[in-house]
Amino acid sequence: MCRHLGWLGEPVSIASLVLDPPCGLRVQSYAPRRQKHGLINADGWGVGFFDRDEVRRWRSASPLWGDVSFASVSPALRSNCVVAAVRSATVGMPIEASASAPFSDGNWLLSHNGVVDRRVLPVSAAAESTVDSAMLAALIFERGPENLADTIVDVGAADPSARLNIVMANGSRLLATTWGDSLSVLRRDDGVVLASEPYDDHPDWEDIPDRHLVDVSSAGQVTMTPLKGSS
Ligand code: GLN
Repeated sequence: MCRHLGWLGEPVSIASLVLDPPCGLRVQSYAPRRQKHGLINADGWGVGFFDRDEVRRWRSASPLWGDVSFASVSPALRSNCVVAAVRSATVGMPIEASASAPFSDGNWLLSHNGVVDRRVLPVSAAAESTVDSAMLAALIFERGPENLADTIVDVGAADPSARLNIVMANGSRLLATTWGDSLSVLRRDDGVVLASEPYDDHPDWEDIPDRHLVDVSSAGQVTMTPLKGSS
């Protein structure tokens, strides 16, 4: 499983979210604290953010911990809305920059932590890679982010062993699902963080129960709803 993070709030530097925290994605790339599937996340990484209305992405098929260019430039990159991930590739999946989250349709950034049988997903020309996560992202974009909950429940029914943990954002809204892996929320004075695991030991981190939809508004309102058909 990968580890991912979403931010919606005041503009902050990418480094402050991804590299600086004591247990942030950089450390999670080699020493995650809560990872149950896979040991390290060395098969690539990606950061996507909104620059006014423009989606910008920086993705790689190499480990995040060794990227000195990203470490140098990311303190100067600032955004109010960020989706970032480090990747542990599922066996048999391609290792290439286009298989690293976040995926995008030009309006949304999306990260998938988990696995899904590609045979239950439609083949889409819009998928950025043949990795299961890119095919799932294409389906979510096609069915519409408003229908994220239904799409996850439907895919989960088609593949009962799937793990379908999503973080996605469009610059003014952050959506997430929990389906088979952990997610925590941190409400800060300047915004909201969603992360596979807390990036530090701040007491305000709250665990989100499994099989939930999380909806974060630009006003910082966090809504959690159980996913239909969940036990
Ligand atoms: N199945 C996806 C991949 O291979 C995601 C893997 C993960 O969550 N570790 O990239």
